Amino acid sequence: MTRADDSTAASGLGLVLSRVADGTAQSRAELVSVTGFSRTTVGQYLTQLFAAGLVEEAPEGMRRGGGRPSRLLRLAPDAAVVLAADIGETHARLAVTDLTPAILAENTIAIDLKDGPIIVLAQLADAYRALLRTLRQNARDVLGIGLGLPAPVDHAGGRIVGPSVMPGWDDFDICGCLTTHLGVPVLVENDVNLMTLSEFRAFWPDAAQFLFVKAGTGIGSGIVTDGRLYRGAQGAAGDIGHMQLDRTGGPLCRCGKQGCLEAHAAGWAVARDLRAEGLLAQTARDVLRLMQAGNSATALRLHEAGLVLGDAVANTVSVLNPSAIVIGGMLAEAGETLISGIRSRVQERSLPLAFRHLSIQRARSGSDAGLLGAARLVIDTRLQPRHADATIAAHSRFKPGSRTRPQKLRLV
Ligand SMILES: [Zn+2]
Repeated sequence: MTRADDSTAASGLGLVLSRVADGTAQSRAELVSVTGFSRTTVGQYLTQLFAAGLVEEAPEGMRRGGGRPSRLLRLAPDAAVVLAADIGETHARLAVTDLTPAILAENTIAIDLKDGPIIVLAQLADAYRALLRTLRQNARDVLGIGLGLPAPVDHAGGRIVGPSVMPGWDDFDICGCLTTHLGVPVLVENDVNLMTLSEFRAFWPDAAQFLFVKAGTGIGSGIVTDGRLYRGAQGAAGDIGHMQLDRTGGPLCRCGKQGCLEAHAAGWAVARDLRAEGLLAQTARDVLRLMQAGNSATALRLHEAGLVLGDAVANTVSVLNPSAIVIGGMLAEAGETLISGIRSRVQERSLPLAFRHLSIQRARSGSDAGLLGAARLVIDTRLQPRHADATIAAHSRFKPGSRTRPQKLRLV
């Protein structure tokens, strides 16, 4: 996995922590290689990071290349906690995770996005305080908050731009408001991008160019290029659901236009067509339930949806030349009924060179993908070289007054 080179933004100690955290170095030898420091210097930094409780050796030893056993370095899971949220229109799933990230505690609360950001963010802050109390943690233990929202997000500005289902949220300073409540850094991201990040980091870390397609009630996609989310100029990259597939006309989309990919292949469009055939289907979940009950008309319609999705994905392949495409979301649970259509249409429409080594598979992340992606975003960001020194200062175990503090951490 490669990373943009911002290595000069950190002290030596911060850089070593950062390279362990992002997985580019899992051993002392790899740290020497990626940082350019001597083995002695790397050893001194690691001694400080072990003592600070920020880095540890994985419990299971591992022999590499037939040499002497080498224990893998990793971020200490309990060095801090992360607050993650997967926010929908009517409910929010909230979790506290460790730095693996693994969920330590979670809660689902009822919200109404139409209440506006001030009310909803106060509800989130209250729920997070309660979760932290159950774990006997407080805001000082929190590395950051990651919020996944069902809307286009200006990630750098921490704001939503032009949300269709979120009146009152447009251009509101979400990060500033939530930081006022809890006093910790806040990151905001589109929910599909977070699912993309979670699937990529957990199962496809070596895929240089990675495309994730979420096929649920709506359709969206996320792109990872050279190990990083590709967001585009305004954060709208990957919005394939409203690609126009019909030159003229086509079914009406919920965005107001005609002939979008969603209007042909989204869960809501498949449900619309099944209702026209007299079946009871309102949501993507209903569609899946009908297929799993053996309804042949539903299976046929899902296969057709896969073919149309394949048309849009083939166009995307022409631009991105990905090495892996993963299909997630509720409709992906239909498995090959949907995915075989995508695969055949991509093969038919792509250049042989682009398709030859292309893997198209169903997502392996479960229903926690959005939450874990939010936690992953916080961990990746707060341990980048530019933030690593601040993270060391805030989350080192040996703070003034601690009886066990062996030495002052030197950020040089
Ligand atoms: Zn549309």
